[in-house]
Order: sequence, then C-alpha cells, then structure tokens
Amino acid sequence: MQNTLMLKILPDHEQRNILLETMEVFNDSCNDISRTVFDNGFPNKYELHRLVYYSVKDKYRLPSQLVVRAISKVAESYKADRTRIHEFDRHGSIIYDQRILSFKGPDSVSMNTLHGRIRMPMIFGEYQRQRLSRVHGQADLIFRNNAFYLAVVVDLPEEPEYEPIGYIGVDLGVKNIATTSDDRNHSGDAVRQKRIATAKHRNRLQRRGTRSVKRRLKKISGKEKRFQRIVNHGISKGIVAEAKGTGRGVALEDLININQKTVVRRRQRYMRLSWSFRQLRSFIEYKARASGVPIKIVDPHNTSRECPKCHSIDKRNRKNRDRFKCVRCGYGGEADYVASLNIRSRAAVNQPTVA
Ligand SMILES: [Zn+2]
Repeated sequence: MQNTLMLKILPDHEQRNILLETMEVFNDSCNDISRTVFDNGFPNKYELHRLVYYSVKDKYRLPSQLVVRAISKVAESYKADRTRIHEFDRHGSIIYDQRILSFKGPDSVSMNTLHGRIRMPMIFGEYQRQRLSRVHGQADLIFRNNAFYLAVVVDLPEEPEYEPIGYIGVDLGVKNIATTSDDRNHSGDAVRQKRIATAKHRNRLQRRGTRSVKRRLKKISGKEKRFQRIVNHGISKGIVAEAKGTGRGVALEDLININQKTVVRRRQRYMRLSWSFRQLRSFIEYKARASGVPIKIVDPHNTSRECPKCHSIDKRNRKNRDRFKCVRCGYGGEADYVASLNIRSRAAVNQPTVA
C-alpha cells in the first residue's frame, strides 16, 4: 500500500533562490518544449527528445537530467490531452529521480539544480521518519505557500487482515463528525467552532473585496484545512485502534449517503464539508489497511430511518435531526448512534458479493 509524504525542505536564503530559479527555468523550458510538441504534430517522447534535447540544454543551461525530466513532463501532459497547447506554471513541480536527488541521512537531501548540487536540511515528524526508508525512486519538488516540499511516495507495510469477531459501525456526520456503535461520539464541536469563526472572518474580508483580500482568503482556507486534517487524523486513529484492540472490523456506509443526508444549502459550504468527509473516510481506510483491520462498506439506504431493534423503516422514525423514535416498537435514541447501530448490523450480515 502506498502513501505520499510531504517533506519540507529548509534551504538557506541563497539555496532558496537557486531552487526558485531552477524551477522557473525548468518550467520555461517546458513551455518551450510544449510549443515544439504542438507545432510538430505531437511527436512521441523519443522523437521529441531528438528534436529538443540539445537546443533546450544550450538555451536554458539546465543539467541534462533536468532536460530529460522537462521533456518527460511535457510528453506526459500531452498524453492526456492533444486538443490544445499546454502551458506550464512558473512554479509547477519538478519530478526528481534518484540520479538527481538523494536523501542524506534522515534529515537532509541533496538535489541537482541550475547551479550544481546543493544539500539542504529537511524537517519531518516521527511519522515520516519511520517510513523514509521505504521511499520510492522519485520525489516531486513542490513550491507551495512560499515554501519548498518534496512529495515522496512510500510503501507502507500492510499487516495481514484478521477475521473480525464483529464490527464497529461508524456513522459520519456534520454535527458529530463520527459516531460509533460503541456509543462514542467524536464531536465536531472544535471543528465547527473554528468553521464559524473562519466564516465570520471570511465574510468581513469579502465585503471589502480587494486583491489582497483574495490572498488572505486563500490563506484562511489553508489554515482551516490543516486544522481539519489534524482532527481527522486523531479520530481515524482512535477508531482503528479501538477496532484492532478488540479484534473487530470497521463498518462504514457507502459514500453516497453522506451527500443525501447532509442538508447543505450553499455549494461552497457543501464542497468544504464533502472534502472533509472524504478525507476522514480515506484516513480510516488507509489506517485500517496498514494495521490489518477489516473494513466493510455497507448499503447506506435508510440507515437513519431504520429501527435497530425491530427493523421497521419509516420516515417518521426520525423525529428531527438529533432524535430517533421508532413508531412501531417505541425504541428511541440519539439519531447518529442509531445510524451507527444499523451500519454495524448490516456489516455483520453476510452480504452477497456483487461482482
Ligand atoms: Zn422499532
């Protein structure tokens, strides 16, 4: 199983300028190569190499391996779309392979640039440290929020999946980010408060509507995402550890239901929420896979309307957003918890596999 790590590089002032210049020259050369591709009726990678290698190398003074990477970047890009000329962002990524990048110990990296090889420190957490030994061949140099990162793909060892003795049903929601059938609430309070504060700040800025405001809005949304990410990491870790510790699997609803049951009027807000759900789900799934915890995806229909006791399904069972009360047998409870019970019981049933 593969995962992408973001390693932050810490260049000094001079190194930073070198990286930036390398990136800009690299992408300028990509744009040059791109015109050749377009003007010459989309030659394949080998023909392209013959057409541009020496001229690009002379004109841009790039090390040969970076010329090769530029040709490759442009050729890959045209594989997907040949209807128009492609333009490359000045600060678009550079793919480094092992010939032009090497990790020196756990916290420094050596990279080829326009001005020779430079060695720079990097920072990363314990999480990355454990996995750096499993780095794959290449790393993407990325410039984001005024900082340089290396995006590297690592192999995570997967533990063999065990036979679960039952499942923890997990209901994902807005108010309660995750509710489990163990009656544990992973409240969205902190996230929601942050969201409200951020929304207010955003509105104030939007009323002003200048260009610098746009930049600040972008920064706010970055902060919000990072906060949400930390929360999602914590929740998913807790759920997976709980399942593993008790020999159970994790049951989740098929994703479509999240969209159906979340009443969100404004599209922008919907996009943010939907992004967060998908992230939490994917965190649960990959943490589970890494530690051998079985995941079961269940049919999401009516999980919030079915009675977990007598299994009658009725719209009126759901009094309001928070409360469930069965109109047939009288069973009542907190709505998200009831949904998680239904998710659990659906996972326990041996469902036929749909091929
Ligand atoms: Zn009932």
